[in-house]
Amino acid sequence: MKKVGLILSEAFNMLFSKPVTEQYPFEKAHIEKSFRGKLVFFPEKCIGCKLCMKDCPANAICINKIGEKKFEAILSMDHCVYCAQCVDSCPKKALEISPNFELAAIDRKYLKVSIDEKKVLIDEKPVQNDKQEN
Ligand code: SF4
Ligand code: SF4
Repeated sequence: MKKVGLILSEAFNMLFSKPVTEQYPFEKAHIEKSFRGKLVFFPEKCIGCKLCMKDCPANAICINKIGEKKFEAILSMDHCVYCAQCVDSCPKKALEISPNFELAAIDRKYLKVSIDEKKVLIDEKPVQNDKQEN
């Protein structure tokens, strides 16, 4: 009987407290600061050393030279395990982890993208990168 009282008391308290569940996607999701989402790349900082590629345990990132001292980063989001090893390995802080977790796509080919800090997700197009076919 004591337990029933406790349950009723708990249920009554819950009537007046904030729900613990979130209404995502109808409301913006709460993301912890330490969450590791999609990588962002700052091409102006990159020196093309490719340490990020060498240290990636999932072979998910590829740095391509696209001009004189210009590089692009191609990320296979379906391979990336969001470990942030590439971020730690980069000597120029040209890579960062973002809180972006909304990465679903209707086709796997859309998960291979050129990442750039200035691009927003909807602008990204799948890219051809022969060097990185697995
Ligand atoms: S480790 Fe950093 S500087 Fe080197 S290629 Fe990768 S992103 Fe560029
Ligand atoms: S976060 Fe980890 S798995 Fe993803 S590209 Fe960087 S090193 Fe590779």
